[in-house]
Amino acid sequence: MISIDKQSFKGRRAIIRVDFNVPMDSNKNVLDNSRIKAAKSTILKVIKDGGSTILMSHLGRPNGKEESCSLRHVLNETQKVLGLNVLFAGDALGQKTEDLISALKPGQVLLLENLRFYPEETSGDEMFAKKLASYADCYINDAFGTAHRAHASTTIIAKFFKNNKYSGHLLSKEVDSIKKVLETGKKPVLAILGGAKVSSKITIIESVLNKVDEIIIGGGMSFTFIKALGGQIGESICEDDKLNLALSILEKAKQKGVIIHLPQDVICSKEFSDDGDKKTASINNIPANWQGLDAGPKSREVFAKVVNRAKTILWNGPIGVFELKSFSSGTIELGESIIESTKNGAFSLVGGGDSVSAVKKFNFQDGVSYVSTGGGAMLESLEGKELPGIAALSN
Ligand code: AMP
Repeated sequence: MISIDKQSFKGRRAIIRVDFNVPMDSNKNVLDNSRIKAAKSTILKVIKDGGSTILMSHLGRPNGKEESCSLRHVLNETQKVLGLNVLFAGDALGQKTEDLISALKPGQVLLLENLRFYPEETSGDEMFAKKLASYADCYINDAFGTAHRAHASTTIIAKFFKNNKYSGHLLSKEVDSIKKVLETGKKPVLAILGGAKVSSKITIIESVLNKVDEIIIGGGMSFTFIKALGGQIGESICEDDKLNLALSILEKAKQKGVIIHLPQDVICSKEFSDDGDKKTASINNIPANWQGLDAGPKSREVFAKVVNRAKTILWNGPIGVFELKSFSSGTIELGESIIESTKNGAFSLVGGGDSVSAVKKFNFQDGVSYVSTGGGAMLESLEGKELPGIAALSN
């Protein structure tokens, strides 16, 4: 994979796959522009070098050409973020689009219409990809969030650029941060896995077992492990069909010398809400009718110690029901320990799903080393899969 930093784009026309699939309100105002901001440095690199750029993205899941999913709605925000005038092609194909592209001058930016207005995008159609490729003399992929999809613009297009395909800054950062954790991470390497279900994390657990020194298993999924070990978990969330799997994970960890830390105590309640009574219980003795909803004080102390000694940290999944105020402190304290450890030199990556929401909710993003922008793409990377969009840049 070649980074754009090793290239000059002077006089070149680059087609860039960005991820402008931004959330919008009912009046089509952009609610969160972080994905546009994330693509900014790649776009500006090409422009500052003296090149021109064609931006392509999807937005939502349109069924054919749906005005509500038009990228026209993100045009203003894109201009604001880039500080540049951006031309808009009302289509991804067609004569008008081709004319705009032929007239594109160095320093200019053109945004194509939503690629998913054409079913050929998601089906990975070669002719569609070839047409898009014909617009430019080089291809840059900066859409990590869709790199796990073999779509026309994320993967197939790359084959039409033998030596002129590059990774943008965002994509490179994502790939580097995964490498820093799973391949070249300073020891001890720690994975913190939380969230609701073991079933959605099995492949990640199995993959990281080969890469890390310690694992904290917290949140809802810890109860499947506790029950498998003979603990009384009351009404806590549990996947009874995964008890044997939990035991086999613990056994594999033992064989590989990976230390697994499960919670020792929990804050529990009779209700899944802020309103019910709360008390702290030992993890093995949660009374009947009560459910564990957050890490208890002893667990937090142990987790903080483990985080403190780690030199590389991967965090995936909250360790309590952080959406409810009464059960958010475990996740908040864990985030604070990760920030502290990062200040002391550890590399910390937050990736995949709800831990990213928790980090945003509690404003931890500036204190950790990297927060991944790609939900599904990050999860698949952590599962050890090669993402088609990334592989296509190297082939
Ligand atoms: P995931 O998407 O698998 O990372 O799961 C995240 C969800 O797990 C969040 O919505 C949390 O509220 C939930 N969660 C964390 N701890 C618990 C728990 N002890 N009981 C029930 N749900 C939990």
